[in-house]
Amino acid sequence: DNPLGVHLRAMGIGAGYIAVEAADVTESHRLARVRRDFVANVSHELKTPIGALQLLAEALLDATEPADAQADLPEDLVAARRFAERIQHESTRLGRLVQELLELTRLQGAEPQPPPEPVSVDWVIAEVVDRTRTGASARRIDVVVEGERGLTVYGSDTQLATAVANLVENAINYSGEDTTVRITARAVDEHVEIAVADQGIGIAPTDVDRIFERFYRADQARSRSTGGTGLGLAIVKHIASNHGGRVEVSSTLGGGSTFTLRLPARPPDDLLATLPSAGI
Ligand code: ADP
Repeated sequence: DNPLGVHLRAMGIGAGYIAVEAADVTESHRLARVRRDFVANVSHELKTPIGALQLLAEALLDATEPADAQADLPEDLVAARRFAERIQHESTRLGRLVQELLELTRLQGAEPQPPPEPVSVDWVIAEVVDRTRTGASARRIDVVVEGERGLTVYGSDTQLATAVANLVENAINYSGEDTTVRITARAVDEHVEIAVADQGIGIAPTDVDRIFERFYRADQARSRSTGGTGLGLAIVKHIASNHGGRVEVSSTLGGGSTFTLRLPARPPDDLLATLPSAGI
C-alpha cells in the first residue's frame, strides 16, 4: 500500500458517496418537477372550462335582466338569477385559485426566473395602489403611502408588484370599512423594508405561524366571504425568498396587522457581474 493507493481508495469511496447522494437529489428533484408539471398542466386545462362558466353565467344574468328595474320578477326568475350570480361568484373564485396555483408553480422553479433588474420601489407601490384602488374604495378604505422615496431593490418588477399587491389586498379584505391601510418604504441597514399595516381583524397567535402555508386560512378569515384562496401569502413568501429576502408579520387579534417585506438593497452577484460599474 503506497500513500497514493490509500489516497485513491479514499477518493473512490468519497466519489461513491457523492454519486449516491447525487442520485437521491436527482430523484427528489425529478419528483418535485413531476408534481409541479402536473399542477401546472391541470391548472392550465381548467382555465378554459372556468372561463366558459363565467361567460355562461354572465349571459344568463344578461338574458334575465328585467327591462324595468322596478317591475316585480316572477319568483322562479328571481331564483334563477340568484343561482347565476352564485355560479359567477364561485367560478370567479375558481379562476383566481387556478391563476394563483399557476403562479405558485412558476415561482417554485418550473420555469426559469427572469434575470434580476433594478426595480424602483416607488414604481412598485404606485402600481399596487393603482391595482387595488377599486377594491379599497368599495370598502371606503384609505390607502396611504408613507416613508422614503427613491429606493431601489433588485429582481423582477412584476413579481414584486404581485407580492406587495397581495399584502395590500389582504389588508383591505381583512379590515372594516372606513379604516386606513399604510404602505411604508424605508431603508434599514443593507435592506429595503416595505411594510403594509392595517387596522383590521388581526391574526390569532395560533394562526400566525401557519398563514404562509399553502391553503391555510385562519378561522376568522374563513367566516368572511373574501373570495380568498389561501395561496396569496405562500406566493408572497416565495417571491421574497426568490429575491433573497423574507416576509414577516406582527399582529394582534382584533388590533390590526403589519406585514413587512424585507429585500436586499444591493444587487445580487450575478447582476453585479453584468453591470459595467461592477463593484458598486
Ligand atoms: P387568503 O387571503 O386568500 O385567504 P392568504 O394566503 O393571502 O390567503 O392569507 C392566508 C390567511 O392569513 C388568510 O386567510 C387570513 O386568515 C390571514 N391573513 C392574511 N392577511 C391578513 C391580514 N392583513 N389581516 C388578518 N388576517 C390576514
